[in-house]
Amino acid sequence: MSLGIPIFNMKKIVLLTAFLLIAGATVNAQYIRFTKAYNKKYVYLRDVAKYYGMSFVPRNKDCYLSSRYSLLRFKYQKRSGVINGIKVNFMNAPFLKGNEPVVSEHDFLLFIDPILRKAALKKARIRTIMIDPGHGKRDSGAVGARFKEKNLVLQISNRLKTLLQAKGFKVLMTRTTDTFPSLSQRTDLCNKLKPDLFLSIHCNAAGTKSVTGIETFCLTPSGEASSSTNKPEQKVQNGNRNDKENAKLAYEVQKSLVSRTKGKDRGVKFARFFVLKNIKCPGVLIEAGFLSNKTEENLLGSSAYQQKIAQGIADGIFRYAEAVIP
Ligand SMILES: [Zn+2]
Repeated sequence: MSLGIPIFNMKKIVLLTAFLLIAGATVNAQYIRFTKAYNKKYVYLRDVAKYYGMSFVPRNKDCYLSSRYSLLRFKYQKRSGVINGIKVNFMNAPFLKGNEPVVSEHDFLLFIDPILRKAALKKARIRTIMIDPGHGKRDSGAVGARFKEKNLVLQISNRLKTLLQAKGFKVLMTRTTDTFPSLSQRTDLCNKLKPDLFLSIHCNAAGTKSVTGIETFCLTPSGEASSSTNKPEQKVQNGNRNDKENAKLAYEVQKSLVSRTKGKDRGVKFARFFVLKNIKCPGVLIEAGFLSNKTEENLLGSSAYQQKIAQGIADGIFRYAEAVIP
């Protein structure tokens, strides 16, 4: 008899919880109002804050959404923002509509929401990872005073492979020696072998020698402009089937990379790189640092720093895999 009551109560609690979840979802969706500007849909950040149960702090030039777990910064008329300490580049600059801060619907649905809320992501068991060390053979990539990109990215990729295998992942490589598979050979291989994730590893170079840091790219969603331009493109690519997953993976990889290496955070960015456009699984392209900067070049050439980069990328993959687990 003493058992009867708790069981009955438990059933009631389960039913009540289910009801609240359904009711909650309906209420939450109603929170977010849309508005149109520049031929696009925007959402009110006040409502986005409410949706996440965060406080909303509008200011003169920027706006914060904050909770115990998260802090988001939106700057008006600027595409650069911050999500939990990591720089991001929105597809469209947030702005004040009247007195109300707004952010584009794509930035909210395809970028912010999948980063903050794992329920927004497609569930998957991540087992096989394809690593794509950029360039190779006659294509050296960026060339520094001491090192060539094609060699450094292969070394980093091999370290990453070891770390992933140690955690039980199956690893595929687009090249394992100094060869040059064409970009389409790389993406064809990816679409034939069907890994769960694709990571293209690169190093950077810039005309200005003082430039340093790490950036992680995901494919630009259709109808939007990449981070380096203001020109939108409409064409839907293979990679666009995973816009949300690409954003989450790029964010987690960038966050873990910055945390492991203590390198300068240049942010999560959008680009339409060939490999990102043409793969059918979620994927990102990592620019691990600048060979045009002497200090960073020396770091990138050292085994200790290469290991930090590999560990950072691996951590990001582990966090992503955990987020999408069914
Ligand atoms: Zn490269």
